[in-house]
Amino acid sequence: RIVYVNGDYLPEEEAVVSVFDRGFLMADGVYEVTSVLGGKLIDFAGHTARLNRSLRELDMASPCSDEELLAIHRELVARNGIEDGLVYLQVTRGNPGDRDFVFPDPKVTKPTLVLFTQSKPGLADSPAAKTGWKVISIDDIRWGRRDIKTTQLLYPSMGKMMAKKAGVDDAWLIEDGLVTEGTSNNAYIVKGGRIITRQLSNDILHGITRAAVLRFAAEAQMVVEERSFTIDEAKAADEAFVTSASAFVMPVVEIDGVALGSGKPGPVATRLREIYLEESLKAAV
Ligand code: PMP
Repeated sequence: RIVYVNGDYLPEEEAVVSVFDRGFLMADGVYEVTSVLGGKLIDFAGHTARLNRSLRELDMASPCSDEELLAIHRELVARNGIEDGLVYLQVTRGNPGDRDFVFPDPKVTKPTLVLFTQSKPGLADSPAAKTGWKVISIDDIRWGRRDIKTTQLLYPSMGKMMAKKAGVDDAWLIEDGLVTEGTSNNAYIVKGGRIITRQLSNDILHGITRAAVLRFAAEAQMVVEERSFTIDEAKAADEAFVTSASAFVMPVVEIDGVALGSGKPGPVATRLREIYLEESLKAAV
């Protein structure tokens, strides 16, 4: 596999980042994951816009222009022959040459930019979408700026492990009895035909898939309520689902052992998945 590091395309064995890189020492970095279907990038403009916002919120310099980013994505997809898969991008505050809590001078220390691809044949017709995910609920003990897509993924990673240990697919994070989001996705419930998902704030990541799905839902005359919901309300819902760039729209059929509706993927989630895949493929670059 060829990976990209600071201007170079290299075999992965030859790509290196300093031990003093702040991404490594401090998780001082942000990232994006863009899916690739049929060799094309899904929602690239959305991911670039969110990357720029994350960088701004952390006073981090942009490593290159949006046009250069698109060119790098395309070059990597081509070099690695990716039909279906993902492009992972990470920007860190770079390598100041030592460990210090104080941010380095951005005129001296340039950001580190790393990209690599992951090949996922058949990504869009994942068998899991036909059976749906089971989730458990766990406490949300993450920091207060979840709207910034940082590489501090230890707790989400622990949440995935708790889910795995419980024999399920993912965990929904709960704060003050309310669902914030999944470990790596936005969470939704459906009740009486209404789609309910938490409003945007610093408490959740502003999902690029979420934005697209809510747009498509409105265009299809579906009713959307952007508000918080409790885990109890979720367990009493007709159906549920999550969205992310890699899972697209994924039905959720069970929460903490409670089956939702028929216990099978619901009609709203199923329809939204179809619409999302169809429409975002049309707009892919
Ligand atoms: N919430 C969290 C915590 C996430 O990590 C992700 C995916 N990285 C999402 C939501 C979904 O965002 P997107 O649709 O942009 O992939």
